[in-house]
Amino acid sequence: MTYLSGVGIGGLTLAVVLSKHFSNIEIDIYEAKSVISTIGVEIAIWKRSWQVLQDMCLDEEMKKRGLPPPHKGEAMADALVGADGVHSLTRATMHRELAAQHPSEGYEKYIEPIWSGTHAYRCTVNLPKFKELYPAHQAFSHPKISYSACFYTVETGESTPYDGPWVTDVSPEEVISVYDGWEPDLVQLLECLEKPSRWTIHVVRPIPFYVSGLAVLLGDAAHAMTPHQGVGGSQAIEDAYILGRLLVRPRATLKNLPDVQKIYQKIRLPFAAKAAERSRTNGLIYEFIHLDLPVGPNASAVASSHWEKSLVRPLDGWQREAVILPMQNHDVSHHVS
Ligand SMILES: Cc1cc2nc3c(=O)[nH]c(=O)nc-3n(C[C@H](O)[C@H](O)[C@H](O)COP(=O)(O)OP(=O)(O)OC[C@H]3O[C@@H](n4cnc5c(N)ncnc54)[C@H](O)[C@@H]3O)c2cc1C
Repeated sequence: MTYLSGVGIGGLTLAVVLSKHFSNIEIDIYEAKSVISTIGVEIAIWKRSWQVLQDMCLDEEMKKRGLPPPHKGEAMADALVGADGVHSLTRATMHRELAAQHPSEGYEKYIEPIWSGTHAYRCTVNLPKFKELYPAHQAFSHPKISYSACFYTVETGESTPYDGPWVTDVSPEEVISVYDGWEPDLVQLLECLEKPSRWTIHVVRPIPFYVSGLAVLLGDAAHAMTPHQGVGGSQAIEDAYILGRLLVRPRATLKNLPDVQKIYQKIRLPFAAKAAERSRTNGLIYEFIHLDLPVGPNASAVASSHWEKSLVRPLDGWQREAVILPMQNHDVSHHVS
């Protein structure tokens, strides 16, 4: 029996991988919230993660299927998967225990997430109103415009404590005031926003382990990152896919479970850490506060060339090669020994 804590995108993906690949692993899912709901905003899914969803036939299915009700309560299990998000109780418990056992190693710093310095305003736009007011707006003709979140960074905020609520509904006026003086195209869009909320983006410091004993972390629980590369959810999907595919190998048994989990950690930890680091770098570039890319007359051109050359492409190619290809074209069972 495996105990899965949390049914965000990471936990659900793992549950599907295990059932899809005819595993005999019994999995019990626990979720802190009593209902599964959406908040009306979208996230980007990159090609690689979309391939994972396609492999699980979820690309079409996820659009039409209802979700099973999650469990609440206590249970005994052979293993615990903590897919319980940035506030992860699993991560906190794991690192509290490690800190008690190894007081000089500094594990306590991984218990709580830290503030990234950034707020994200998320909202929807009242499209009929927007069309009526601004029928010639470039959002209707320019294929590159997609609207999901606006970021507002406090330059000195990173790693500082944040006392307020992490997610809170705000007035449209608050968002509009933050973007006072911006281009008319943006201001017009903001005039039609609805249900804005302010997310105080917290991240997890790069943790040294995803696995301790029979507990294993995935998704934001392991590596909550800033949203500036739009890959946090994709990383959760890929974690779940790799862990699930390893767990269903015929040679993976309860006896060698710690080794299987460590293989997962070895594959995923450096990737996700790199994605988190690059996402942070992107944020600094977006906000013109990157120390190596100071603001100047051609700051925008330098930033986009840096982003284009150094961030997106290598990550995409590197991860694709190292994660997807081995899983599809190579037999990973030799690792499980
Ligand atoms: C503004 C913003 C924009 C983003 N944009 C993108 C994007 O474009 N692309 C992208 O890929 N990612 C994006 N992300 C990141 C993405 O949303 C997250 O990385 C992803 O949702 C994490 O999924 P998860 O399953 O790990 O965690 P979560 O979605 O947080 O799920 C964890 C679940 O565990 C439950 N839980 C918590 N504690 C317990 C407990 N003790 N017991 C049981 N259940 C528990 C929670 O209720 C929750 O349902 C964005 C994030 C933000 C904030």
